[in-house]
Amino acid sequence: MKEAEWRRALPRLRERLGDRNFATWIEPIRCVGDDDGLRLEVPSRFIQEWVSRHLIAAIRDVLGPEASEGLRVVVADQSTWVAPAVVRESPPAPAVASRSRVPRVGRLVPDYIFDRFVVGPSNRVAFEAAKSIVVSPGVHYNPLFVWGGVGLGKTHLVNAIGHQILQENPRARVACIGAETFMNAMIGSLRQDQMAGFRDRYRELDVLILDDVQFLAGKERTQEEFFHTFECLYTAGKQVILTSDKPPSAMAGLENRLRSRFEGGLLADVRPPTAEMRLEIIHRKATLQGTSIQDDVALAIVQRCGPSVRELEGALTRVLASANLEAAPVTVDLVQQVLMLVMPRRKTLTIEAVQQRVAQHFGLSVPDLTSHRRGRAVSFPRQVAMYLSRTLADAALTAIAAKFGGRDHTTVLYAVKTVEAKAEKDPSTRHLIDDLQRSLTAADE
Ligand code: ADP
Ligand code: MG
Repeated sequence: MKEAEWRRALPRLRERLGDRNFATWIEPIRCVGDDDGLRLEVPSRFIQEWVSRHLIAAIRDVLGPEASEGLRVVVADQSTWVAPAVVRESPPAPAVASRSRVPRVGRLVPDYIFDRFVVGPSNRVAFEAAKSIVVSPGVHYNPLFVWGGVGLGKTHLVNAIGHQILQENPRARVACIGAETFMNAMIGSLRQDQMAGFRDRYRELDVLILDDVQFLAGKERTQEEFFHTFECLYTAGKQVILTSDKPPSAMAGLENRLRSRFEGGLLADVRPPTAEMRLEIIHRKATLQGTSIQDDVALAIVQRCGPSVRELEGALTRVLASANLEAAPVTVDLVQQVLMLVMPRRKTLTIEAVQQRVAQHFGLSVPDLTSHRRGRAVSFPRQVAMYLSRTLADAALTAIAAKFGGRDHTTVLYAVKTVEAKAEKDPSTRHLIDDLQRSLTAADE
């Protein structure tokens, strides 16, 4: 067995690289042997790069020339990813592993538990809904439909529901799979003429978690099959949990009957975390990696990242890895050095840039925005532009007032409050603001 050679090599790798490096880079590796040789699967592109650049020589050395033949480091398919069970020399096993039980169908990511989910204004509704589902699955929010941009914690949150339900009721029949995996399983069963078995497997569940349902758009046959699965579970009072990158109303190529089922439960959106949440996330993730960092360091990292938590995590990992490798303290300078090349500091925005972008978005001209014309067609976009000037360009109220046709600064203050209040109440305004923010802060390629 080729995998056995990998397992035998682990203690020597640990000795050679040290505990820290071993835990950071080697433990996440899942080794699969096939005809071409050993395939080392890692959970992210960053780890792939790191291992390929810095550790591959040591790995080859320890494995010896024969086992190293055809050795590759690849990023695992996330939908099938399970962290490998690392043989630890010293008990106790990590807390997470004991908490994660195995679902009937699919997989739960071990780390994606409630305790590790930072809650704040951007995700509180979704979080509370998730928690109450654990208490009484199938009763209150059915289905739960969690939607929002990439890297904002959808998969984490729905996995947490799965873990917690299994924790409280180990006999619960839970499935957690990506919509794409669902489709592939269905196609496989169709080909092998085993649809009855397929249907039974999904229709006997207590909880079905289907991740990334936007993938079903335009897949008519799969939607049809899923519709029947859904109906069956729903009428039996079983819990269905869905995630998507957009709300059902915006999913083109989705059958109407599915759309109306999706809309019939609780729609909860997750938005980019606030500045405070981002700092909290950085601190918590650092703690999980066995270290703590100063506030100024956390802030420096946050400033170089976009809205996605995944990006934030990647940046932190890079910084910690490099501190570890160079045996250097984690300072703001180090952050600047490490992240400068990969993530140029977000450009500082000018009020003019905000005005241009907002005008373009609403099909107006900048003079429209800065004029004193009234009417909703210009006044709302104007308020949005003032709000973004305040939050993104970080300009003083008087400076903004001056650039919007010499208004009074209280007008700007009023605009900021109005937009905030609206975004609080109305998801479409919230997402409009998020989209504009994203396009304004995207680093230049
Ligand atoms: P999505 O499914 O929305 O694309 P994920 O759930 O995969 O996002 O989250 C991306 C990464 O960010 C994961 O590692 C996850 O643990 C982390 N993450 C996202 N939101 C939070 C949060 N609120 N608290 C802690 N970690 C988070
Ligand atoms: Mg996801």
